[in-house]
Amino acid sequence: MPLADDLKRAAALLHAARRVVVVTGAGISTESGIPDFRSPGGLWSRHDPSQLTFNRFCASLETRKLYWEIATQAYPVMRDAEPNAAHEAVVAIERAGKLLALVTQNVDGLHQKAGSSPELTIEIHGSALGVRCIECGTDADREAVHRLVSDGDGAPTCDVCEGPLKPATISFGQAMPERETSSAFAAAASCDLMIVIGSSLVVYPAAALPEEAVRRGAALVIVNREPTGHDRLAEVVVHGSAGESMRRIADEAGLLASRRGFDG
Ligand code: NAD
Repeated sequence: MPLADDLKRAAALLHAARRVVVVTGAGISTESGIPDFRSPGGLWSRHDPSQLTFNRFCASLETRKLYWEIATQAYPVMRDAEPNAAHEAVVAIERAGKLLALVTQNVDGLHQKAGSSPELTIEIHGSALGVRCIECGTDADREAVHRLVSDGDGAPTCDVCEGPLKPATISFGQAMPERETSSAFAAAASCDLMIVIGSSLVVYPAAALPEEAVRRGAALVIVNREPTGHDRLAEVVVHGSAGESMRRIADEAGLLASRRGFDG
């Protein structure tokens, strides 16, 4: 259960803020049924991340087959998932005119499904709802590739150049997308409040965003079930579920239609 005092302090910061950057990680989507990687039972308790790097994907057919096997199990779960109260709270921050940017490490598309504007949403780790050729960069249809792999094509290839197809996500060892990364850091440098929801803050460069925001004078709120790598930088750490905590923070700040919050 999040502490009432922490929720109130987080809500007061949100109420006063004018330029909010929200940073989200896998923990915002677990209540929508998408497991994170690091919790017990998550992907990294079943597979060694060093076996699934971008270099290995490029070099080894066996790795590509394993990668596609995992991606083919995960894709329908992401495609069919519904946003939860935390995604909706982020939409409420945007509708209140306070959102400078939403930076997500997630690849599940749930922010956009909840109603967050694509123009304000920066997907720094790409999207699992797309597929791209790693040789020529041509996009392929995710549903069609999903059907091919489900029907036994262990490592699908590009129709244009026959290069390996890969989900349009950023893997360990793969270059970060330049435009998205620089937009995310520019937003972090000019926000007055950063709210991080559901991230262990151990994956860089995403974990450097709160460092940059605090260095430039912004307040930091962290909402996470467990301690994170950056709790010491935060003005308020809310320990609790993302959905309930964010619903209560947005409500208390007067951003939900049901209640006026600080304005009475
Ligand atoms: P992470 O797995 O490192 O950390 C998730 C954090 O969220 C953990 O600290 C966990 O305690 C917390 N958490 C889990 N459920 C929660 C809940 N309901 N309420 C509050 N906190 C909760 O995730 P990360 O920091 O995003 O980094 C891992 C990488 O894996 C990222 O690149 C991410 O893109 C990717 N990933 C994405 C998805 C997705 O798109 N939904 C799912 C799994 C992994």
